[in-house]
Amino acid sequence: MKTRMTCKSCKKSMKLQKTHTRDGYQWVCRRRSHSRKFTKNCRAGSIFENSRTSLQSWMTFIYRYCQGLRLRQVDMIQDGIAGSSATLSKMTRKLRMVCRKALRKHKRETGQVVGGRTEFVVIDESNFRHKRKYGRGRAGETWRRKKWVFGILAIKGDRRRPILRLVEQRSRDHLIPIIARHVRQGSTILSDEWRPYRRALTTHGYTHYTVNHSRWFVDPIHGGHTQNIERAWSTYKSQVWRLRGNRTEKLLKEHLTCIEWTYWLGHNHSDGPLGRLLKDIRQQYRV
Ligand SMILES: [Zn+2]
Repeated sequence: MKTRMTCKSCKKSMKLQKTHTRDGYQWVCRRRSHSRKFTKNCRAGSIFENSRTSLQSWMTFIYRYCQGLRLRQVDMIQDGIAGSSATLSKMTRKLRMVCRKALRKHKRETGQVVGGRTEFVVIDESNFRHKRKYGRGRAGETWRRKKWVFGILAIKGDRRRPILRLVEQRSRDHLIPIIARHVRQGSTILSDEWRPYRRALTTHGYTHYTVNHSRWFVDPIHGGHTQNIERAWSTYKSQVWRLRGNRTEKLLKEHLTCIEWTYWLGHNHSDGPLGRLLKDIRQQYRV
């Protein structure tokens, strides 16, 4: 919500007044002659503008969005957060946009670089297109080129920071530039055994270890780390699948961005994802 609003007629600051409108408040000009004519919805300029969902439902929605709780539209309609899936899609899109913008800013400022002496980096590719359980849609129309999700997972203690990119092919030319951009030189990179680009990693200044996926549990040195990415992948995948986020390339990209936001920004905030999201909303819908 804005904390200040100016009257569009006299440019003086308006007052937030209790009313009998749905939200209970509205902006009113302090000049008596204006007070009837020049009022403004208290949602003006906020993330809630143009939405007809009650603010209480919005709060529930934001809370659930951050916790990743019961986010399927059927559940939310059943719980009375919104009346239709169109409304829910619109609300979700707004929050995703907030996350996307915040992450983009973070990338711009930090470069989103991982690795170094104290952080392990595990890389892997995964195909997110499987399991078209719901749609009978024609996959060829929504998925043209990008097929694989290339993942860089940085591990330091309990912290996990994923970088997830859609790529056309799992080739050296497609993957090495992403690695070079995001992983510090001299870092240790772990991957499974089959890697057409493994030599390129070494020439780019990385220390590369390979681990056999099927044998990770008998590998006492690196086992734990490949186990990490397997677990991370299945977490990300189930999240995307549950929300049917792999229907189109664009949608999947959005979901991957939100996963990155959760780990890079959400978990990094002292109040967790909810604290971070509220901060990002405040910043983007500035007073
Ligand atoms: Zn006025």
